[in-house]
Amino acid sequence: MSNIVSGDEWNIVQEDLDPNNNKILESIFSLGNGYMGGRGNFEEGYSGDTLRSFFQAGVYYPDDALFGWYKVGYPKHNNKVINATDIIGIKIFINGERLDLANDVFTNFKRTLNMQNGLLTRSFILIDKSERKTEFKFERFLSMHNKHLCAISINIKPINYTGNLEIEPYMDGSVLNEDARLNKKGFWEEVEKDSETLLIKTKKTDFYLASSMKAKIYQNGIIKNIPKKIIKKDRYIGQRYKINIVKGVETRIDKLISCYNSRITPKSEVLKKSKENIKKLSSHDFKSLLSKSEKVWKKKWNKIDIKIGGDFSCQQSIRYNLFMINSTLTGEDPMLNISPKGFTGELYGGSTYWDTEIYCFPFFLYTDPKIAKNLLLYRYNHLNQAIENAKLLKLKGALYPMITIDGNEGHAEWEITLMEIHRNSAIVFAIYDYIRTTGDQKYMDKYGFEVIGNIARFWANRVTYDKAKDKYKILGVTGPDEFHNNINNNWYTNLMAKWVLLYAFKQAIWLKLNNNKRFIELKKKYNFSEEEIDTWKIISEKIYLRTDEELGIFIQFDGYTNIEQTTVEEIPKNELPLAQNWSWDKINRSSLIKQADVILGLYNLSNLFSFDEKKKNYNYYIKRTVHESSLSASMYSILAAEIGQIQEAYKLFKRSSRIDLKNYNNDTEHGLHVTSMCGSWLSIIKGFIGLKIIDHSVTLNPVLPKEWENLRMKILVLKRELLIEVGQKNIKMKLISGSDIEIKIYGKSYLVSNIKELVINYSEKYFNI
Ligand code: BGC
Repeated sequence: MSNIVSGDEWNIVQEDLDPNNNKILESIFSLGNGYMGGRGNFEEGYSGDTLRSFFQAGVYYPDDALFGWYKVGYPKHNNKVINATDIIGIKIFINGERLDLANDVFTNFKRTLNMQNGLLTRSFILIDKSERKTEFKFERFLSMHNKHLCAISINIKPINYTGNLEIEPYMDGSVLNEDARLNKKGFWEEVEKDSETLLIKTKKTDFYLASSMKAKIYQNGIIKNIPKKIIKKDRYIGQRYKINIVKGVETRIDKLISCYNSRITPKSEVLKKSKENIKKLSSHDFKSLLSKSEKVWKKKWNKIDIKIGGDFSCQQSIRYNLFMINSTLTGEDPMLNISPKGFTGELYGGSTYWDTEIYCFPFFLYTDPKIAKNLLLYRYNHLNQAIENAKLLKLKGALYPMITIDGNEGHAEWEITLMEIHRNSAIVFAIYDYIRTTGDQKYMDKYGFEVIGNIARFWANRVTYDKAKDKYKILGVTGPDEFHNNINNNWYTNLMAKWVLLYAFKQAIWLKLNNNKRFIELKKKYNFSEEEIDTWKIISEKIYLRTDEELGIFIQFDGYTNIEQTTVEEIPKNELPLAQNWSWDKINRSSLIKQADVILGLYNLSNLFSFDEKKKNYNYYIKRTVHESSLSASMYSILAAEIGQIQEAYKLFKRSSRIDLKNYNNDTEHGLHVTSMCGSWLSIIKGFIGLKIIDHSVTLNPVLPKEWENLRMKILVLKRELLIEVGQKNIKMKLISGSDIEIKIYGKSYLVSNIKELVINYSEKYFNI
């Protein structure tokens, strides 16, 4: 697959404008700061193939749910984070002609995303019919320092003529969603506006959004006082300037925009706050605002950066992944979560999936546990809706939604909404992971057990007892592999339910012994009886898990080995991706798997399985997995590293971390795969570094692909900050903060203290397989 972008370790570069790949590149050059964000659209507009989007985190609208016919459990609405005011827009007219790169002639096009400071730049030379040449340089960033600020600076220089320029910085709230079902006329209505502030509100949900803009014009570096004409239309404000431009002289237009939405700020205050903010900001220039934001990025990078020596491509891609994850969620607010596409496209509607707990959560846990705690609280705050959701399906306990923004189910497809219930276990697993990694046991008393107990109650109710076998089965599910629906005994679902039930039982005992008052309080609140709690253990012990002794594998679901057996190798390349080429029944009948399923179980509960079991299952399932969910390759990469198939682990890591930079799944045009970028991070820490927490202590089993000279990163674990460097000849570890800690490396214990760096030289290769 050809490269869409180039660049270096800190920069993603587009060398030319390719109209056929424009939407893909718009996704790749997206920006966000946790509060708001949007695709890499051109400020001046583009009449070619484009998807213009800008979102305010968590600002959503109940669009019509789409389904053939209604089934109990379907939501009435499909809540989605909607396209909000287009704040980046600047219409540009050069000598009377509107700039539009879809039609204009230009040379020297270059676009760069600087991941170190979040600055997006673009430059080109425009050549008009009379051979007049104009040089353009655009810069844009979303501030990490002032989350309400978007700043744009444009430099325009006529190279061989003197002429005129008209510009119209604008804010446009009359935006639509490409995928809108309801309200084709838009989700927003105007409340009020003046010459620089636009206040709009959603027609339902009553979100208010105020945006204010200030433009400054400089020539030869000197600010110019140029009169402006105000253009007002429904939900639109433009400020039109006419400027004479002189050969060889740079004209700079800085546009600052401040946005406040009413997700946290009271409705009555958004307008005032937005105006105050823009007033304050406009006394600063673009560069000083950028440097403030840059400082925040610098601090972040200091915590999260991963250095990969000797492999430029992997170095670039892991930084790209880290940049996008951190542009999507900054984590101060427990009401916000991370959606698979973040701010980079409409698809997935800004909703939260199980991706959060299994893929994203560990990244935050090991780099900023406060954010991880907020992600747990997000689910805790939605427990009542999860209980109601289970009730709707005539089930007990809590069933968390497949996709959500406000805690209610947002998905309407029976095989997913009603059947992909393994998502429930992921939430318990994250609580377990949080407590074992941070040691914050108080979380269990205060919040954890309420969620765990209700999910255990769900599983105890959802199982079916098979008297003849004296086993509990889980029928009618879809596992993580979404290619096989309405199956029985998905190994992953059963394994995780079994684990949840036992964990819940143990936590109940723990709570009773350690905080009986709280235990009694929760028993009363949810009507848990000791008898019910005992059944969790009984069911857990008897959950049905099938192994094929001959093949030596765990069977993904009942009958899996009897459906049409195919391997990926046998499929002609032009039939991939399958989901874009095969009918669903053909997919369903085939043994090809969309994404890690059994393999995910082996990763989650790694300590329960032997090396041999991992190896056999990996080698069997990898041949059948097409990785058509971006979430797949990272999990296989981890397992491959663990069983010593290091070069395969490396290839899979590349596939995961460059999924969008290479458009592997032919779908980047809709947006980036932000949640799976956390999976790439997991491949490093859980795969190549081989980090596990076993019996309250940290163990590492590092392996390094031959392409990498070394791998260096910081992690936070058990209240310590550690710097780990894995090289081809040795491993080095340093304690940056916290007390001395004993760590197991390849099974041997070492003390890591802040007195001296620990250096372990390899005497031989780690794996002799
Ligand atoms: C995957 C799901 C995932 C969703 C959002 C789907 O393609 O199969 O596992 O939750 O994308 O990332």
